[in-house]
Amino acid sequence: MSRAGFIGLAGRPNVGKSTLVNAIVGSRVAIVSMRPQTTRRAIRGIATDTAAGRQLVLVDLPGVQKPRDVLTERMQGRVERELADSDLALLVVNGEQGIGPGDRFIARALLAAKAGLPTICAVNKVDRTGPNELVPVLAEAAELEGVDEVFPISARSGEGLEALVARLGELVPEGPYLYPPEDHSDQSGETMLAELIREQVLNRTREEIPHSVEVDVKEVTPREDGLVVVSAEAWVETESQKRILIGKGGRKVGEIGTAARGSLEAELGAKVHLELRIRVRSHWRRQLPVRGTGNLSIRRFEGIPTAFSQRWHTIDRCSPS
Ligand code: GDP
Ligand code: MG
Repeated sequence: MSRAGFIGLAGRPNVGKSTLVNAIVGSRVAIVSMRPQTTRRAIRGIATDTAAGRQLVLVDLPGVQKPRDVLTERMQGRVERELADSDLALLVVNGEQGIGPGDRFIARALLAAKAGLPTICAVNKVDRTGPNELVPVLAEAAELEGVDEVFPISARSGEGLEALVARLGELVPEGPYLYPPEDHSDQSGETMLAELIREQVLNRTREEIPHSVEVDVKEVTPREDGLVVVSAEAWVETESQKRILIGKGGRKVGEIGTAARGSLEAELGAKVHLELRIRVRSHWRRQLPVRGTGNLSIRRFEGIPTAFSQRWHTIDRCSPS
């Protein structure tokens, strides 16, 4: 009989959850960033070992944090819902930094979300710690509320992963596979591509571009000559954010596009022509009960063309190379 189950991943931002999902799944699923809280969607990575007869479905949760704003609150709600549907929880902590109040907060949140949920703690980044530093961290991890077992790992080097995966495989319930064994993710192709573009937007900007930036992939069209045309829109919240993203003479959007095109080409295994348009989704517009209810001033506002709003940024033309 095979075993299969959902594993809810929790942990402070930047502890290495996305890297771990990618390492376990063996292909790139969740985006990895130098900046915290990149993952706002609950991304599932699917790792099936047909020889061992087990399937692990990893739900890469957004960082559990004290609610600070609507977005974070929504994330918290999603974390709780995802966990309620999980068979076990995997709490990832940063072994280099040691256990802190944030880790304790999350451990308690896991307990509260589902009492009795088996919880494994992965102490990550052990490639950065010497044995003398690691031992007390492992002891502290074992003392976290609700944590049943502790595994020292490095999602980057792969150290300790085999033991962790084997144990997770023992803990998921007996049953048929939840996804076809050849699947690595349940994301649609467009979502995956949008995340790759978003990763480059975040990697190439600072705090001025918040994580609320959204990327929509509108169209993916393979042409006869093998080139794939990808049309995407990046949505920001203010005109000034839009100006930053576009940069002087379109330089920033050109850089983002060139880097994103590289990721898209690696993902699709084809040459890509990326058209990236930066658009503004204003707060006041979102608050309108119904759009276009005869309010002339709003209609006029929407009609004002700003410098770049009507133009597609064709990266292949913007970039100097
Ligand atoms: P998340 O926010 O928890 O999903 O963290 P990410 O997976 O995005 O990783 C955050 C940062 O930590 C990235 O720069 C990763 O490359 C880095 N990282 C993740 N795992 C390891 C590890 O095992 N060792 C080291 N040295 N760095 C890691
Ligand atoms: Mg992540």
